Amino acid sequence: MEFDLVELIRTRCTVARADVRLGIGDDAALLAVPAGQDLAVSTDTLVAGVHFPPVTAARDLGWKALAVNLSDLAAMGATPAWSLLALTLPEATREFVADFIDGYAELAAQHGVALVGGDTTRGPLAIGVTVHGFVAPGRALRRDGAQAGDLVFVTGTLGDAAAGLRCLDRRDARAQALFNAPPDTRETLVARLNRPTPRIAAGAALRDVASACIDVSDGLLADLGHIAERSGVGIEIDADALPASSALLALFEREERLVLQATGGDDYELAFCVPAARAGDVQRDLARIGCGATRIGRVVAGERVRLFDGDGSELVPERSGWDHFA
Ligand code: ADP
Ligand code: MG
Repeated sequence: MEFDLVELIRTRCTVARADVRLGIGDDAALLAVPAGQDLAVSTDTLVAGVHFPPVTAARDLGWKALAVNLSDLAAMGATPAWSLLALTLPEATREFVADFIDGYAELAAQHGVALVGGDTTRGPLAIGVTVHGFVAPGRALRRDGAQAGDLVFVTGTLGDAAAGLRCLDRRDARAQALFNAPPDTRETLVARLNRPTPRIAAGAALRDVASACIDVSDGLLADLGHIAERSGVGIEIDADALPASSALLALFEREERLVLQATGGDDYELAFCVPAARAGDVQRDLARIGCGATRIGRVVAGERVRLFDGDGSELVPERSGWDHFA
């Protein structure tokens, strides 16, 4: 489609890599996978009003579209290399595309990811990104390796992005209170929604120790459910252990906070399992790269994810809070 737009994209996202033999401009890119590496490939689409509020700034959207994809590579322990960008735009405004690609390029530069091609079409706003990374054969972090006795950890803090979304929702019952919250508290949470940090270095550090790993995109319990299912195990999580940011603690009481932490999506932290004997190594290695990790539970024989309160009762998510089961 519009040649100028592609040219605009090409000139604003300029990470150069020797393994890109031919980038944007031909019918296909030509890429050289390093000898002795597997290619890790993943794709994710963001649709306006479904995956992001329509008010989201173009620059944040560019960042987020790449971030959610890099997060999938992080969860595999892969090192990112190349990306493709499929843009569907209601109208091809230069300003939107320039801002969008600046946000995309900012994150791409941080991780040395080259934009090697894509597609640009007209239609309701949607952004598809495909990322490629490298990982040595047999060393990728997968969902199917957790074993009973392993400990469960999560990087960073949970629930911030979902809290940020609530801060933006004018229909939210507590919206007024949230609007009146200290601006830096609100901004911290909204930034976690709009500008997630893909945990690439943490994924790499976990390559030789984690038995299973997943990125938290749909909510902790749902995502750990994928590990439980693929690994054929049960997982027990301690509600009191779930890490919370000071911004989340400042704005939400425990019950509500727990909903955000356990079921809120879009945090893009890594949840992972580690054999108990390696737990100390993991926390030390992650601390060294400046990424906190919190022990939140354990892997058991069984087949589902269960959340426990401090008194030992099981907590079951309900529409607006929690049901306690003894
Ligand atoms: P074709 O009709 O052969 O698909 P396009 O006009 O769609 O050609 O694309 C021309 C070149 O521009 C290709 O190299 C393609 O990869 C690149 N391209 C198109 N849209 C984008 C985009 N949104 N981001 C990056 N590269 C793009
Ligand atoms: Mg095309």
